[in-house]
Amino acid sequence: MIRERLDKVIRTVPDFPKKGIDFKDITSILLDDKLSNEIVQSFSDKFKDIDFDAIIGIESRGFLFGFLLANKLGVPFIPVRKAGKLPGKTIKYKYDLEYGSSEIEIHCNDIQEGWNILIHDDLLATGGTASAAAELVLKSKANVAAFAFIVNLAYLDGQIQLDKYTNNIISLTNY
Ligand code: AMP
Repeated sequence: MIRERLDKVIRTVPDFPKKGIDFKDITSILLDDKLSNEIVQSFSDKFKDIDFDAIIGIESRGFLFGFLLANKLGVPFIPVRKAGKLPGKTIKYKYDLEYGSSEIEIHCNDIQEGWNILIHDDLLATGGTASAAAELVLKSKANVAAFAFIVNLAYLDGQIQLDKYTNNIISLTNY
């Protein structure tokens, strides 16, 4: 089972980047080429009944498997970046964090009107980041086809925030 393999490999780092946070470090997965391939295969199997035109990956850990998946499945990959990093004309979305706010953006013409978009990140926590990415999809006049995460910190109930965009919320392991 991929879940058991992931649970063995993902490192939990207590009190990082600040006290009280159990940080789930997925960089250890990248050292294991077989497990990385299994992740791609597992996601691909779960996407079988989902119709999507492109995958967007959220900076920065969402780029790692997002691009691999898009490339394997033969669809475009679109990076969502923190504001100020993309050189072209962008669509932005600002959202609240626990303290302060953050802003993300995509290049204007990357998402075509009417496309169905699969949103990928390494981990779902409170759901703020994935919701912000979904808002960028809606601002682009496209549809959210699914969310896909390696890890869902289910005790934070981030999924509740995402339900309004789609019922397709996929994760490979939960805590
Ligand atoms: P959230 O917006 O609260 O759902 O946070 C999700 C984003 O923050 C993802 O891009 C994660 O990579 C990162 N993140 C939040 N909490 C953690 C955690 N406990 N361990 C690792 N990454 C986290």
